Amino acid sequence: MKKSFLLMFISFKLVLFASLAFAQQQKTLPVRLQMISERLYEVLDGRGARGGMYIGDNGVLVIDAKMDKDSVDQTVEQIRKMTDKPIKFLVNTHSDGDHVNGNQYFPQGITIVAHENCRKEFFHPGRDGSASQWTKPELMPFVPSITFRDKMDIFLGSKKIELWYFGVGHTTGDAVVYFPEEKVAFIADQAFIGRPQLIHSYKGGNSFEHVKTLAKMLNTLDAEKFCSGHSEIMDRKAVGQHIQQMKERQAKVKSLIEKNKTLEQIKSEFPKNEAGLIESIYNEVKGL
Ligand SMILES: [Zn+2]
Repeated sequence: MKKSFLLMFISFKLVLFASLAFAQQQKTLPVRLQMISERLYEVLDGRGARGGMYIGDNGVLVIDAKMDKDSVDQTVEQIRKMTDKPIKFLVNTHSDGDHVNGNQYFPQGITIVAHENCRKEFFHPGRDGSASQWTKPELMPFVPSITFRDKMDIFLGSKKIELWYFGVGHTTGDAVVYFPEEKVAFIADQAFIGRPQLIHSYKGGNSFEHVKTLAKMLNTLDAEKFCSGHSEIMDRKAVGQHIQQMKERQAKVKSLIEKNKTLEQIKSEFPKNEAGLIESIYNEVKGL
């Protein structure tokens, strides 16, 4: 008994040490803007996902909010270096913390916009069943106040920004923010290069819907560049490849299920870092 307790204590210390070392390695870089066009920028680094910033005729629109006060302050500071026009709109592409936790550090009075399902997901319990922090009344001013269903246009003077919804995928409320003059779409976590797709089943996300949703986006928008929440900018070919690879994974999981393989056996047929995605696909095929 004593010995196993000691072992537990030692392994706890080791885990603690390893995670501290990991945290140090993952030192947060200061927020910076990367130019796409004279008006449109990616908002990189800081804590949280990659976002965007657009300078219209009479104001600024920001895409996604980072996740702590420092990163939001740095975002605003970087925008102030480019323009003194007021920040009018903040679009949340979906409800994940790395895209929306920073909402509360933006100046009050900014209009926060999202898809109607995204707003609903703000109040959804976490993966572990814990209550959402957005149920606190003091945070209500930072929950999206304007929502849309299929499409919405925002005008900043003569400049039009299109918000589109193509369906369920990564979550149930992922918006695409499209800049028609630049032919650039901000798609956040609907596709990445070089890391497995995230499907948040606990929020209603679904990989089979995901491929349909992305195909619909490619058919609808004449976008040439797709800005991702967690990877480099993608072109149409890269998004097409992402869809194709997802379909191949789904077909392989299906055929392994037909051969009566268990979830663990199926996972072992794929790279380790795809385990979460494979489990989602497995549950979807099984109707779980
Ligand atoms: Zn994200």
